[in-house]
Formats: sequence, structure tokens, C-alpha cells
Amino acid sequence: MTEPEETTEGRTVPGVNLAGTAAEAHGATAKTFTTREAVFALDKVTVSYNGQPAVADVSIEMYRHAITALIGPSGCGKSTLIRCLNRMNDLIPSASVDGQVLYHGEDIYAPKIDPVEVRKRIGMVFQKPNPFPKSIYDNIAFGPRILKMTKDLDERVERTLRHAALWDEVKDRLKENALGLSGGQQQRLCIARALAVEPDVILMDEPASALDPISTSRIEDLIHELKREYTIAIVTHNMQQAARVADMTAFFSVEVREDATGRHGVLVEYDRTTRIFTNPTDRRTEDYVTGRFG
Ligand code: ADP
Ligand code: MG
Repeated sequence: MTEPEETTEGRTVPGVNLAGTAAEAHGATAKTFTTREAVFALDKVTVSYNGQPAVADVSIEMYRHAITALIGPSGCGKSTLIRCLNRMNDLIPSASVDGQVLYHGEDIYAPKIDPVEVRKRIGMVFQKPNPFPKSIYDNIAFGPRILKMTKDLDERVERTLRHAALWDEVKDRLKENALGLSGGQQQRLCIARALAVEPDVILMDEPASALDPISTSRIEDLIHELKREYTIAIVTHNMQQAARVADMTAFFSVEVREDATGRHGVLVEYDRTTRIFTNPTDRRTEDYVTGRFG
């Protein structure tokens, strides 16, 4: 971390030197990225199940047009945390969120906020591709139909499938059932389904972990492409993947509570990906990224 710097909005955030990030390596919008506009600002966020913290006291900012990776051992709360960025934990009755999650400066847990609108702006893709048992076309059209975005629907479907690098493979079979696609195609379809309602952010929870290496590489290429227009947070247990795709990486670990009531995840270190992988500050990060963990 370097000295705090002014953002374009005149707020002060902890400075992170973003030179040499994946953003630059891929010639993407490094200029936009280095303005460090925080799309998400989490302040002391704790997510609990039945009152027991699963991940505690997380404060982090995620930047516009950056890819932020969440890494760490199984059970450290990566899925729990990413789900609270679009109020997906609302759907789990035992889950509760403390602390503040600001999205473009707005508290997404404020009473006046409509969670459906939140999930429109902040889409999500899961580990296992989960297309609806409907046609390829109807999968993409599903969200737009619900949200009454049906003007020029055919064009929207085509544009979205092109965006997700799937159009050429499916353009002649739009009416066929999506479950007939390969796993990798299904996952790109699920990404396309998220894109169809024009989100701002895409959250991905281990989006390639069920896929073969070639499909994984296509998903990674797609993630890079999408970064030009979207802000992306990705959970991955694959460290090479984090190193390949992410500009910023947050490393989480599990801590045993002092009062012996259990264990919960904590954010250990957050920095440029290159720094996390080559010169981390915390011993726990170093042990993990060098494979000494466990
Ligand atoms: P990760 O994605 O890093 O593997 P999770 O967020 O899935 O971690 O889990 C963090 C902790 O929260 C674990 O102890 C897990 O058992 C618990 N947990 C996750 N989902 C639920 C749930 N729906 N109900 C109760 N406990 C849960
Ligand atoms: Mg998980």
C-alpha cells in the first residue's frame, strides 16, 4: 500500500499502485481503472448463519472495470461474501449481514432498496452452469421479459450472445434446449443470461471449476473481454486463474474464535494481484500462494 490518494470523486482511499496490473497487460482501460472509482465499498461486513459469523469484519473496495479475485481455502467465506454483494444471501433465511455494503456510494441493504433491482444491476454466475430447461433463446430472453425490456428482443438476444462469445456456436439452434449445450457453452450461456439485462457488475463464484481446461480458457478470455464494460468479482480456488485474470486479489483465511464458539473467515490481505502472488505482506498469504498451506 502506498499513501492515500484522491480519487476523481475527491474521496480518499488507501492508495494501491495499479501499474503493471492485468488491466495494463491486456491493454484494457487502465486509465479508467486507475481512477479507482469504488463500485463496492464494504465497511466491517460480517455475514452470519444462525447468528454465527461465517466471514467477519471485511472492509474492502472493489474498483470499476477491474477484475477482483477472492481466493482462500475452502470454508473461508468466499461464496458467503460474494453473495452479499447483490443480496443473494437474502434468499437464505438463516443468513444475516452486519456492517455496510455501499454500491456506488449507496447502501444496498437500506430499507428503500429493492433487491430485485440490485440483482438486475449486479448479476451473478455460479459454479455449476444452471441454464433453465428452455430454449437457448428463451434463456437469454428470460430476464428481459420479466423486466419488460422486450423491445427489439431478437436483437438483444443476438447482441448478448455475441457479447458472451457464443453466437457463432448457437445461431442456428436458438430454439433448441439449452441443456443440449456442452458444459462450457452452458456456462457462457449463463454469463450471457446475466448480461442480457444490462448489468453493471458480474459476480462469478468459481465459474470455471466444473469445466475442462479448454472451456476454462474460453471463460477466462471472455472475462477479460467483459472487463471493458463491466466490473467483475470472481471467486476462484485456482490460484493460476486468479493470477491470470485478476487485477486485484483478496486473500481470505479461516480463524478460530478466541471464545471457542467456532471459526470464521477473515480478509488477510488485499492488493494488486502481482503483489499478492510475488511479494505478499502477510505470512499467511505467502504460505497459501506458495502452497505451504495446510
Ligand atoms: P467458501 O466459499 O470460501 O468455501 P462458504 O461461504 O461456502 O465458503 O462457507 C463459509 C462458512 O459458512 C462455512 O463454514 C460453511 O459451512 C458456512 N455456510 C455456507 N453456506 C451456509 C448456509 N447456507 N447455511 C449455514 N452455513 C453455511
Ligand atoms: Mg464457495
